Amino acid sequence: KKYIYAFEEGKKEMKSILGGKGANLAEMSNIGLPVPPGFTITTEACIHYIEIGEKLEESLQENIFKYLKDLEKKNEKNFGDLEDPLLVSVRSGAVISMPGMMDTILNLGLNDKSVEGLAKKTNNPRFAYDSYRRLIQMFGNVVLGIPGYEFDNFLEKTKDQKNYDNDTDLTVADLKQIISDFKELIKERKDIEFPQKPEEQLLMAVKAVFSSWNNSRAISYRNINDIPHDLGTAVNIQTMVFGNIGESSGTGVAFTRNPATGENKVFGEFLLNAQGEDVVAGIRTPKSISELNNLMPDVYDEFMQVTKTLEEHYHDMQDIEFTIQEGDLYLLQTRTGKRTADAAVNIAVDMEEEGLIDKETAITRIDPEDISQLLHPNFKEDELEKADLLAKGLAASPGAATGKVYFTSEEAVAAAEDGEEVILVRKETSPEDIEGMVKAQGILTSRGGMTSHAAVVARGMGKCCVAGAGEIQVDEAEKKFFVNDRVFNEGDYISLNGSTGEVYAGIVATTDANLSDNFKMLMSWSDEYRKLGVYTNADTPHDAEVAIGFGAEGIGLCRTEHMFFDSERIISVREMIVADSKKKREKALAKLFPYQKDDFKGIFKVMQDKSVTIRLLDPPLHEFLPQTDRDIKALAEQLSIPVEELRRVIGELEEMNPMLGHRGCRLGITYPEIYEMQVKAIISAALEVKAEKGYDVKAEIMIPLVGSEKELVILREKAEQVADQLIAESEAKISYRIGTMIEIPRAALLADTIARHADFFSFGTNDLTQMTYGFSRDDAGKFISKYLDQEIFAKDPFAVLDQQGVGKLIKMAVKLGRQEKPELKVGICGEHGGEPASIDFCHRTKLNYVSCSPYRVPIARLAAAQSAI
Ligand code: ADP
Ligand code: MG
Ligand code: MG
Repeated sequence: KKYIYAFEEGKKEMKSILGGKGANLAEMSNIGLPVPPGFTITTEACIHYIEIGEKLEESLQENIFKYLKDLEKKNEKNFGDLEDPLLVSVRSGAVISMPGMMDTILNLGLNDKSVEGLAKKTNNPRFAYDSYRRLIQMFGNVVLGIPGYEFDNFLEKTKDQKNYDNDTDLTVADLKQIISDFKELIKERKDIEFPQKPEEQLLMAVKAVFSSWNNSRAISYRNINDIPHDLGTAVNIQTMVFGNIGESSGTGVAFTRNPATGENKVFGEFLLNAQGEDVVAGIRTPKSISELNNLMPDVYDEFMQVTKTLEEHYHDMQDIEFTIQEGDLYLLQTRTGKRTADAAVNIAVDMEEEGLIDKETAITRIDPEDISQLLHPNFKEDELEKADLLAKGLAASPGAATGKVYFTSEEAVAAAEDGEEVILVRKETSPEDIEGMVKAQGILTSRGGMTSHAAVVARGMGKCCVAGAGEIQVDEAEKKFFVNDRVFNEGDYISLNGSTGEVYAGIVATTDANLSDNFKMLMSWSDEYRKLGVYTNADTPHDAEVAIGFGAEGIGLCRTEHMFFDSERIISVREMIVADSKKKREKALAKLFPYQKDDFKGIFKVMQDKSVTIRLLDPPLHEFLPQTDRDIKALAEQLSIPVEELRRVIGELEEMNPMLGHRGCRLGITYPEIYEMQVKAIISAALEVKAEKGYDVKAEIMIPLVGSEKELVILREKAEQVADQLIAESEAKISYRIGTMIEIPRAALLADTIARHADFFSFGTNDLTQMTYGFSRDDAGKFISKYLDQEIFAKDPFAVLDQQGVGKLIKMAVKLGRQEKPELKVGICGEHGGEPASIDFCHRTKLNYVSCSPYRVPIARLAAAQSAI
């Protein structure tokens, strides 16, 4: 089996064996970009290494040295040479990029002798000893597992003693001392000498990278991100180029477009006289890429050309690592750049307009879940003006966040789990902080740039982040931060604006998002492709308006019981429930009627000629009655009935299994006057709006919880009587439809018989899921996490439709229903109607529409388009 590929043997399509980094290094070399030569040991070699008990087979070792020989020829330098040694980097590279999770060693091949040779040969001892101390530091950390800070301590100590600001101030003598301290440290901790044989360094490094696939950071990153554990990592061995030779050298990272906004302008940072991770580590404050134009205009021009070439080649925004060695540019990595949702939309639309990608590609580039960020609030402008501005950092990841400050990941997690809104404040985050970042509303760091760990990870999570706010001094040990002469303690409120980098004291109020033209463009493209209609679940004119703003084409579920809870009318609702005669009940219902009619009029006016599906009363009646002694007494007084009488009614309504009890159309059967009032309110409202505004109102009356054909026959007939009489008496003419929810398994099984009496079906997948599984949504919380842990369920079936079981019922019902009535309109109105995987199922099952909450409407439009492409 071929376990090693030179860069010129690989290509970008070989990611699964070369890893992302190796495949792209190969691709870049082959399209003629300046990449230092190297070769890649495959992920398959890693898997094999793990399988045989973390051993490098003899044959693999030989092969490594064979490829190394070729590398020596290409560079005209020998590995281990004492005068002019070939140095390499050993870089891990997984198939899916895992930032900061796996480790890299630079300057490998140096030892006590060849460092002197390198110093002489380059006439730059500072550079040689700086490279050597870096090698020992990285080797000690990555290969030997000594914590990084133990090495940093020596550096810090020297800098303190000598009053240096930067690593670059260290002299040759300092570096020599540090090197000997480092070696001492290794001996003390691991009882071995730092290996002097370059070959030994190399093999140990390769093994360390392979083994790091299973270090705990990598494992937890894979767990959080759902990355399989059996992919393995490749190892890249690459000729070193040096950014730390002096002021005509440097290293940097850049995005071909702005990853926060999507602006079509190269965005990057670099440091002169620096190596490797210096830029992202936040050691010195990096310079913006535009400054390179002043310092080295030729390199800048070449770099701009490279970014163009890469975009034209990859047809996407790239995240690039580069090094400048004495005025020569080298590329060390390229990958698809992570970006905010806002940037993703802008880049996709811009690239389509530039002809780099087509519309289909633009649509499929965006993760529907991500765009929810764009629909979320920003700070209110006028509130912002009044707000107490504390500091300004980098606008690392947009959004607005308010919360209490916590200084460690553990405390942030604990506070969030207690239901608090949390802002995680750190000097700089590291992979150990991931959990705290996940739970926080926002992240604030005092150090680091746009490409620091905090910034990169926050953007990936779509979380508000302000990074590198230098005015803030964080004291993690004392759980405080200082700004000028003010102190903030754990638990104090602050607000972050990730779009401007501003940090405020206290809470700042927020407003709804406003949607960009590019966003609207992408949505209109989605509408061209999607086959599913997208409706919304809305109970108020306000929600309906929001949903229309987001592109809803109708209301798929309007729940009438929400209207009953209003404080003014709940009393009439209760009067109706305790009524001991039909007469009294009708009297109470008559009081409710004008309210209901006005509710519907409000909604019809917003929806105009779009269809509005209204569900008749669904929940069990006891939900409307009080529970505590005090409230019961108060209500009895209000209704002027004896407390005992009220208690008796409440007792009678009590149920063993309210989910399976006296609710839905069963109420319509037992108290026909309730549905009668509701139908009257719907139809009267429709007629009045038609008469007043001329809208062609499309009322769809939906009967919930039907399980038998006969239920629907009876309720439909009653509703038609009421409706037809009203219409007959009125000047205005409207049409209406009557349909049913399919949410009881029996209804799905007998959907053909039900369809005979229904103009439409709407799958109420919340109930259908709980009835199919036989557990209630309200009680499932107690065991569902265990089921997920033990992988009995892959996903929470209330969040993601169970396509296998519940989906089978849906498919059957659609087939039976349309068999009986080909023009039957079919939709879904459960939570699942806004979830991309479930939407895809609805597309494949050829439903007519999905209905979801207003804020998920754009997500549904995009997801539906992606399903159709
Ligand atoms: P990561 O996956 O953590 O980014 P990399 O392997 O990309 O790790 O390397 C870490 C840093 O070292 C990067 O800044 C990279 O550009 C730099 N680097 C890696 N190999 C070389 C090399 N051959 N010459 C110069 N710099 C290198
Ligand atoms: Mg890298
Ligand atoms: Mg239901």
